[in-house]
Order: sequence, then C-alpha cells, then structure tokens
Amino acid sequence: MDRVILHADMDAFFAACEVRERPELRGQPVVVGSPPGQRGVVAAASYEARKYGIHSAMPSREAGRRCPHAVFLPPNMRLYSRVSKDIFRIFERFSPLVEPVSVDEAFLDVTGAQRLFGDGPTIAAKLKATVKAETQLTVSVGVAPNKFLAKLASDMHKPDGLTVVPSEPTAIRAFLAPLPVGRVWGVGKVSEKILNRAGFQTIGDIQRSSPAHLERLLGHEAAQHLFALAHGEDARAVEVSWDEKSISREHTFLEDVSDVAVLEQTLGDLVEDVGRRLRKAGKYAGFARLKLRWKDFTTITRQLPLTPPRCDDFRLRAAAQELFAAQKLIAPVRLLGFGVGQLTLQSAGQLNLFEKPQHGEAASRAVDAIRKQFGPAAILSASAKLAPTDQKKTKPTKDKLPL
Ligand SMILES: [Mg+2]
Repeated sequence: MDRVILHADMDAFFAACEVRERPELRGQPVVVGSPPGQRGVVAAASYEARKYGIHSAMPSREAGRRCPHAVFLPPNMRLYSRVSKDIFRIFERFSPLVEPVSVDEAFLDVTGAQRLFGDGPTIAAKLKATVKAETQLTVSVGVAPNKFLAKLASDMHKPDGLTVVPSEPTAIRAFLAPLPVGRVWGVGKVSEKILNRAGFQTIGDIQRSSPAHLERLLGHEAAQHLFALAHGEDARAVEVSWDEKSISREHTFLEDVSDVAVLEQTLGDLVEDVGRRLRKAGKYAGFARLKLRWKDFTTITRQLPLTPPRCDDFRLRAAAQELFAAQKLIAPVRLLGFGVGQLTLQSAGQLNLFEKPQHGEAASRAVDAIRKQFGPAAILSASAKLAPTDQKKTKPTKDKLPL
C-alpha cells in the first residue's frame, strides 16, 4: 500500500501565539526574542516582520535596525508549550502515528486513516480547518508518499499552505528536479558547496548523475542517500515518540514474523526490559501499550489502563499478553513494541496503609537485584502463570481515531 504522510508545520508559531493573545498586535511586525538593545537573537518573527528581512536566529540588534517599529516580545515558553499540546492533541485525532519534530511541527502517517477521513489531501484540509477552528492559528501541511517529500512540501506555500506532492515516481522526479540541491534532507552548507562546485545546482542535476559519480565527491553512504532522495525515495517510518512520561522498547525483526511463539517470546523480553527500567526510575505506570507494525509498514497501537498504577513484571506481562491476545494477527509482523505511560512516583494503592502491598513488586525488585549482581541469565523469565488473577479484566481500548 502506498503510504500517505503529512508534515504539519505551524506558521510563525511563537509570534502567532503572541498575536492570538494580544489581538491589538494583528497585522504588525512582531518579533519574539531579545530586545533590539541587547545581545541575543530573534526566536521567531511574524510574517509582517519577515517582510523587513527579519528571520529567526538573526541578531536582535540587526532586526531592530531593519524594522525600528517592530514590536519585540520576550519568549513565553509556557504559552507556546500549552498551545503546542492543544495542537498535538488535534494531530492525534487524525492518526495515532504522530512523530513530533519540534513544538510546532510533526509528521503524521495517515495511511490507515483514509477509510475514516478520506484521501491524503482531504485529511490535510480537515486537519488545517480543525487547527484553525480550535486554536485560531494556521498550519501549513505537505502531503506526500514519504517524510522527505512531505517536509519539503509543507514549506512551499507558507503561510496557511496545503501542498500535495504527486505519488507517481516520474511526477515526483519532475516535482523535485527544479529545486536547489540544498533542499535535499541532510545536505548542509558544506555538501551544498561541494555539489555546486562540481556542477550540481538542482536536484535534477543529481537525478541525471550516477551514484558512482556522486560517490567520488561525497563517499559511498552520502552518495547513496543523496541519489535516493533526489529520486524522491525515502523509506523512513513515522516514529511515534513515546513522550518522556513513558518508557518503551521495540524490536524490529530481520525478517517479518508470523510465528506466534516467536512474537510472544520477544514480547516477554520487551516487557521485562521495560519493567526493569520502570522500577529503576522508581515509577508506576498507569497504562500499558502494545505496538505492532505489519509487513506493509502500517502500525497499530493498543493500550490498557493499569489501575492502580503498577510496576511489577507480573502485571505488565499480563497486560502485554491481554493486549496481544486481543489483536488479530492480520499480517506478518515487522516490528513489535511494548511501553508503559502515565508514570507516577507512587502507586495510588501504596498510599493506603490498609491495602495489601502490591502483588509481585517485591519479587520483581528482588529479580532486578539478583540480575544486577549476577547477570541477566541468573534468573530465567518467570512463567506467565505467575501473573496475578486478582486484576479485573479491562477491555483493551483502541487509540482514538475519529474526530
Ligand atoms: Mg513552524
């Protein structure tokens, strides 16, 4: 199946947040960063300020010279991170596969969301409309078969842009051909200079070259990378980042696996590792999450609440097994992941003196201690039969997709 990837990038994000909070600034050149009288740089500039040639990373003094009547504001990170959360919550309604690039920018793999929301351009239009309606801010979106092209596209018609890259290889090459080589992901100032000097000005020039020729200039790896990207080929997957309030591990199989025993064994190893890290961090998890990526790169995640929050292998393993058992294996598995989230420092149950101590926690900690001293093989995996049966069965919940 052809992938459909969106790259969504908020327009002049910091400045736009400020203007939203102070409508009297609308239409004015707004600069977020150090005041012009001080050393320091511009963090963001509104589009009105950009008309004066002001851009981020420019010394504020220079910005003040270019536009003396610009409104300079100190960065208000608390505001931006609050708005950022709202935006990511909107992104996540369109796909569970959201990879944050920065506070105001993300990749979304919406391949599997098309049945619900329509094709890529339709999803992009809905995403833009939702962001606008709920945050009063604009976002530029690129729609493409991969990350490299989507990111290129989102930048092409800013602000408030929606750019769709064709999905057919010949059309992709034609789309890329006129762009300067510096637009290729990973080509920095140095490589750009080397390429320019060797006669490569546009991505089209690279397309007409050969990997062997490029290799003499840039070395094997960079040449392969550059040649593939110049043809619009980029197999990188959208990686769901498990925020810092979560702990996870995943395993990519060398060959796609459909053997349930192999998958269960691998899952058991992932669970143990996550459990050990969870206890080492002194935390308890409020949910467990299973991640499966099929052969065709579509990925699903399923999660299950842990009430009260837990940190022992017994409960984590039981949750993993429950999630795994509830999921039909519709295709060979390429990647398996397990994680926990909603981490707290103390289990709610622990606060109540009259409650039984957590089942299995002491045992899991003892295992950790022995393994630490004698190595991982000192104790074999505890049998799944040890999983406590006093837990209420909770139905796995699908990550929410619909609006
Ligand atoms: Mg941005």
